[in-house]
This record gives sequence, C-alpha cells and structure tokens, in this order.
Amino acid sequence: MFSIKFKTTEELPEPSSRLIDQIIGQDEALNIVLSAVKNKRHVILLGDPGVGKSMIVKAVGELIEKSPSDDFTPYTIIAKPNLKNPEKPIVELIEGSYKEDIEDIKPKMIRQPPGLLTLMLIMVFFTLLTSYLVRGLSQTYLLAVVATTAIVSFALAFVVVFLAMFGATRGAMSNTVSPLDLKPVVLYECKKRPVVRASAYNVTKLLGDVRHCPLGGKPPLGTPPHKRIILGAIHEAHKGILYVDEIKTMPPEVQDYLLTALQDKCLSISGRNPNSSGATVETNPIPCDFILIMSGNMDDINNLRAPLLDRIDYKIILKNKMDNTQENRDKLLQFIVQEIKNNNLNHMTYEACCEIVRIAQLFAGSRDKLTLRLRKLSNIIKMANDIAMGKSIQEIVEELSGRENTTKEEEKEGKLKSIIEVLKIGERNKKREESKDKGVTAAKKVYIDVEHIRKVIESGIYSMSKQVAIDYLREFKRYKHIVPNDTPKIGVIYGLAVIGSDGMGDVTKIITQIVDSKNPGTHLLNISGDIAKHSITLASALSKKYISEGKLPLKPEKDIDLNRKEIYIQFSQSYSKIDGDSATAAVCLSIISALLEIPLKQDFAITGSLDLNGNILAVGGINEKINAAREYGFKRVIIPESNMIDVIDDKGIEIIPAKRLDEIIPLVFEYDNKKYIKQ
Ligand code: ADP
Repeated sequence: MFSIKFKTTEELPEPSSRLIDQIIGQDEALNIVLSAVKNKRHVILLGDPGVGKSMIVKAVGELIEKSPSDDFTPYTIIAKPNLKNPEKPIVELIEGSYKEDIEDIKPKMIRQPPGLLTLMLIMVFFTLLTSYLVRGLSQTYLLAVVATTAIVSFALAFVVVFLAMFGATRGAMSNTVSPLDLKPVVLYECKKRPVVRASAYNVTKLLGDVRHCPLGGKPPLGTPPHKRIILGAIHEAHKGILYVDEIKTMPPEVQDYLLTALQDKCLSISGRNPNSSGATVETNPIPCDFILIMSGNMDDINNLRAPLLDRIDYKIILKNKMDNTQENRDKLLQFIVQEIKNNNLNHMTYEACCEIVRIAQLFAGSRDKLTLRLRKLSNIIKMANDIAMGKSIQEIVEELSGRENTTKEEEKEGKLKSIIEVLKIGERNKKREESKDKGVTAAKKVYIDVEHIRKVIESGIYSMSKQVAIDYLREFKRYKHIVPNDTPKIGVIYGLAVIGSDGMGDVTKIITQIVDSKNPGTHLLNISGDIAKHSITLASALSKKYISEGKLPLKPEKDIDLNRKEIYIQFSQSYSKIDGDSATAAVCLSIISALLEIPLKQDFAITGSLDLNGNILAVGGINEKINAAREYGFKRVIIPESNMIDVIDDKGIEIIPAKRLDEIIPLVFEYDNKKYIKQ
C-alpha cells in the first residue's frame, strides 16, 4: 500500500511545517501560481471545494513573508483633512512610517478655537452684568450672587470651548477647526509585502468605505471625513497579493471597480451607503497596485464579467483526483500525518490509513484514482478521532440535528467542525479527569482505527447529502419489494441509481407494459429529468430497431407490428428524482422483453448507458450502485466493461462486464431454443 512500513503514524517522520510542502497533488497549479506571482500576473483558481485553492495562496503568502524580496519598501497610508473641500479628504501613501509633522496641524493657528481668553471674557462679562443688576442689595447677598454668576459663566465658557474642540459646534462657531480634527490619521502601516484575503461579497472590506456619523452614535457627530475612512483590501494589498474567494458572490458593480483598480492601479474610496453621511465623501485615488488571485468553483466563472476575466492572465483548474499510484498513496499518507499534527489529533493505525486510501478511491469514483477533495477527508479524520476519543455517533448527530435552520451544506460542515472541536475538548477534559480519579498518570494511548472511520462513513455525518440519502433509504426501503428471485418475468428488470451528490446507491424496479393501440408511442411514468427522458426515448427506438432489423439472437413468438404498439415504462417504487442515462440499458432490455414477450431473469441488476449502436457506455457512481445491488441481495450485477477499472470492492457479488447490449442477451433472458437463434 505505502512505500514505508509502520504500525501507527506515530512512527512516521514529522511533516514539514512549511505550507508549500504540505500541498499534495496540485504541483502544476502551485508552480503556475508561483511563477505568476513572480512575474506579477493575475490568476484565477478554479476547482471543487476543498482541493486546496486557499491553501495554495496561503502557502505562496508564507513564502513571500519568509523571503522578503529586495524591491519592497515599507509604506504607510495616512488620511488628512481637506480644508478647502472637507468632503474630499486627502489620502497619501508615504514611504516608511508616518512621523507627526507640525505642518500638518498648522492651520489651527488660523482657525484657533476660543481658548482661555474667551473663557475669561465671558466670565468677566457675566460677572459685571450681574453686579450692575443687583447693585442695591446687601454686601453678603451681593457677594453670593456674584460668586454664583462667576461659577455659572465659567461652566458655560468651558462647555463652549469643549464643543468647539471636538467640532460638534463647528457650523455654529463659524470656521472653527479643532487641532484634533486637523491631525492626520494613519489608516494602514505596511511593513512587509502584504497578502490580503477578502470575500467577494464583502464590498466594504474589499473596496473600502466611509463611515456614517450618526447623532449620538459612533463615531460621534461631527467626526471629520478623513477620520471616517475605511481602507479597502485592494488598498491594503498594495505591492502585494489580493486574494478574493467566493467569486460567484461578487456583484457586477464590484467587478467594475476591481477592473478599474487593476487598470489604473489606484481607486478612490467613497461612502457606499447612499443613506449615510459617508455618501457625500470621496477621497482622491489611492494607490492599489496588487497581484489579484481569485478562486471559485468551476461554474462560478460564469458570474465574472468578460472584461474582468480578460484581465486575468492565468486561469488554472485544480485537479479533484490523482492517479492511485504508490507515490500518490504516500502523499495521501503525508496528508494524514499533517492533518493529525495540524489539528492535534490522535495517531492512526496502519489499517486506518489504508481505509482512508479506500475512501479516497470511493470519493474519486474509481479504484484507479484518489480524491483530492481533501477537506472532506480531513473532516472524516477529525470525526474518526472524536469517535476514537469515546464520542458516540448518536451524540454527534444529535448535536448536529439540533441546528436545523441552515440549508447550506458548507455552513453545516463548518458548524459540524466547531461542534466536533467542542466535543473534543470536553472529551479530553473528561478523560483527564477520569485518569486523575483513578490515580492513573498516563491514560491509555488512543489511536484512530478502521472501525472509527467506518462509523463515520456508515453514519454519513461528514456530508448532509449522504445523510439525506441514508434517511431516504431507511424510510422507503421497508415499502420496497425488491427481492431477487428465480422466477423470470416479462418486461421487469432491476436498474441501479445513485441518490444525492454524495449519495447512496439504490435499486429501481423498471416495468414495461405494451398495449396495442392506434396511437403508437412511448410513455414514461415517474421520470422527471430531461436526460432520463431522452435516454428512454433512445432505449425505445433502439429496442424497436433491434427487433425490426432482426439483429437480436432472439425471435418473437409471432410477428409483431411495432407501428401499433403503445409502450408504458414505469420506474416503480422510485421515490427519488430519476435523472441520468445510466438506466438506458435496463430500459432497453425491459422494452425488448415486453415486445417479444420473452421473460427476463430476476436475479441480477444492471447499469449502463447505451449509444445508438448498442454499445454499453460507462456510468458514474459504480461503486455505490454495486453496493446497493449487494445490499438488496443480488448475486450478479451487470456493469459497463469500461467501468471495471473503477470497481473497488467485488466481495460477495459477481460483477459481469458488458460491452454491447446483444452480448448480454443470453445472460439475461429466460429463453428456450425456439426463441433463441444462435448466430
Ligand atoms: P479550497 O480553498 O479549495 O476550498 P482549502 O485550501 O480551504 O480548499 O482546503 C481546506 C483544507 O483541506 C486545508 O486546510 C487542508 O487541510 C486540506 N487540503 C485541501 N487541499 C489540500 C491539498 N492539495 N494538500 C493538502 N491538504 C489539502
């Protein structure tokens, strides 16, 4: 299995701590990204979730960080008020760090707020006024009144000065600007080449914004515009890398801004919310000269506008599987060791590592391949670790089903991870407590073993789609009457399907009935998807063609007039949506059986799609389908010959490869010599 022998992963060498060495199976993409970054080119990474898109960017960022390049000069971005046009604050990029310059706050000399002098004048004025008004009163009383007035006028003067200082009365105080308001603010200090990550939907984070200053809110009313500027990720990534993920969520106008930023290498910031006081503010263009790396799933690229896409030099597709070679199995082992170390998990036995390889094959859909959707594998390893730590599946599932309201699978998987984290800590503490109680200093070593991984896989907790499929099968299986038997039947055959994207295989009973009618045609029952409909039209045409051209080694009892036959095809007891063409071979055989009135054997299930020449073509989910056939008790399953390389497990079931439809006729029909012509 692996080139190295071991009992547990404990014996294996420590994984490298450099992220770049931890990436497996994506060498090509990684090299292109490295060269693109070196040559300052923009890149888009496309691929399935969890194949390492962000990991590649992080690794490149780490490399840049650790090997500071010669041509980078640290810089600081500061914002200053614009005295002529306050709504247009000035943002400047200065080399090195910002040192406060007396020049910056000089205008305070011109627009000095009322200071001590004003305060004293107000006091004197009020005191004199009061003394004049109360001049007829007794000495003591007079003194008391004058003292009170002095205190009140002092307080009043203080309030006036205070308000003026903080700008709240700037309008009323005419042209008064506080020195605090004049002080430039440092928006961003960049000491090393930056790698900044932002999600495409987070417009403020991506492009920057200007804060609203509400009455009684934060920042306080009157905060000058330059203090309300929020720098965007595009600006923070100046001279470095901007990584934008989730590209399918990027609004078109944001794409336009991004395009402008790429073209002009600078972009101003303005208030994004039209209802906010920030909306009237706009800065000068701020430098943003960055290398753009975007990522998303394959289909997400449709969301990007052509001009932006045209600006991206490299469009890289990440692989979702790799060949199942010893070298790659070793890489998968390296991945397991990394996950154990990075997530602080228990070590794994050799057999459990082999099981992970088997799951990698299963997820890749073939014995010959290993999946590179490694986030999914990583989650499975973590959950197996939790089970090894003594957490029951029931507990994990219960925690999970307590959170029904989310629909997104990714979100659920995220939550699942955090639940697992919590469980893990709880469990560890519990174990520690237990060992303390027993006076045991070192608790018995726990290893992740095959049974723990199998529990995760069988329960399906690593994937919502799998759990739905398991629930569905649990619910409906008891109503289904699918029992392999030795009584041949006309027009009845067992096909195979897969439910859900991470799904489970299922057996479907296909029944064809023929009636003589003046309106010949084919009717489909319980079929929803277009592909399925087309494939069945094909099956129907093909079966008629076979019969009319006498191409089958079967002959009908009597002559049949195909022009007078009305065909009904039913996917019986199929409770899920059927779409796909993998039932074409089964349907075709079922129609032939019904038309020729020759019974089909009932001890096998079949999957395979057909082309117009009767060749049986490969289908997806072959292992899930074989598994389903085995679980329903079938002893034989017919699959396309080209799928044989994909079969992972053939225990307990005979797998019959088929290349052409006519070649399997002798295997599936219950004929006597009269009806069968040897060709
Ligand atoms: P993506 O951005 O493609 O959705 P990530 O880079 O976020 O995927 O990968 C998530 C996790 O899965 C990583 O932190 C790592 O543990 C694991 N992983 C994914 N791809 C790889 C890979 N090619 N090599 C090693 N680990 C990987």
